[in-house]
Amino acid sequence: MKFEKRIPLSTPTMHGEEMTFIQEAFDKNWIAPLGFNCDGFEAEMATYLDGTASKMHCLALSSGTAALHLAMKLAGVKVGDPVLCSDMTFAATVNPVVYEGGVPVFIDSECETWNMDPAALELAFAKYPQAKVVVLAHLYGVPAEMDEICTVCARHGAVLVEDAAEALAATYKGQPCGTFGTYNVVSFNGNKIITSSGGGMLITSDKASRDKALFWATQAREPAPWYQHEEIGYNYRMSNVVAGIGRGQLLHLDEHRDTKEAIYRRYEQGLSGLPIKMNPYIAESKPNFWLSCMLIDEGCSVDPMTVMQALADANVEARPIWKPMHMQPVFADNDFITAADKPVNESVFARGLCLPSDIKMTAEEQAGVIEIIKSCF
Ligand SMILES: *Cc1c(COP(=O)(O)O)cnc(C)c1O
Repeated sequence: MKFEKRIPLSTPTMHGEEMTFIQEAFDKNWIAPLGFNCDGFEAEMATYLDGTASKMHCLALSSGTAALHLAMKLAGVKVGDPVLCSDMTFAATVNPVVYEGGVPVFIDSECETWNMDPAALELAFAKYPQAKVVVLAHLYGVPAEMDEICTVCARHGAVLVEDAAEALAATYKGQPCGTFGTYNVVSFNGNKIITSSGGGMLITSDKASRDKALFWATQAREPAPWYQHEEIGYNYRMSNVVAGIGRGQLLHLDEHRDTKEAIYRRYEQGLSGLPIKMNPYIAESKPNFWLSCMLIDEGCSVDPMTVMQALADANVEARPIWKPMHMQPVFADNDFITAADKPVNESVFARGLCLPSDIKMTAEEQAGVIEIIKSCF
């Protein structure tokens, strides 16, 4: 079989309210960075995360990567500092460490969530007792083992930066991802659970840190009648038009999450009986199920690339698991710490596959995708 219309991995799903916010920006000729949509988006996100908008302070930025860069500066990463980072993640989690001259040390994952292994993190602190910053990503919207991670960070007096770019609307013990770290980041890139076409947010409970990040993000202009600069600045603010899209999308975030979960459940059911597991999560957490992934059982001779090719032949997009950072040529000289005999991430990368998880995929289309996967076994 072959789908006439391509079945994508994850694309934007718009609803219409986005246009209302954009229209207002046009009507008021407010097409600049900053403005009422940025203010509204930040306040509405803070409310989404803490219910009252009294605890968390948000800063809308041009990308999640920009937010991570400012988080590195707030965390005080300096040239030569070892920074303990998730290994199984997208490169944007760790590139900002390098922008500031830090040296990423990659931490293997555990098997329960495919996220940073607290035991490996502890080993990393033993080897790098001077490490003061941890950058943790929640892969594919599945929360990491946050109690254990936070305990290890606290024991070593380290600042936690949480990369929740893939995990907006996921929770751990009822607490939203993006609120565990001292500095937290979400992304509204086109493929994420909600999108502003491109953008991100820095989230922190420390108002002064939020204001400092705003200062850097707007070219580090000192209060003076002329352009006065005492620090290096950046042009990282979100535009008022883009923020309008984000505001419209935020109204549908929980609905997107529920649809993503339904997709995951259909895979889980449809693929049961095969030598396959879905990407795992722990009972304490509620993932946002941003991407559904399958993991072929150890010892099974089917290669995920064979499945990916069969899907591609049918006009269906699948993608390998994010290649671990310690296996990337650009980080060939960086250290990698594992607590396992055989690195978990290498095994997951070799056996896993990201499956189409698009919100607009119908149950019938997904049934077709499942049939193709089954035919490979
Ligand atoms: C998408 C993503 C980012 C980067 O976000 P952008 O808004 O695209 O810059 C960072 N970390 C992770 C884990 C991501 O998936």
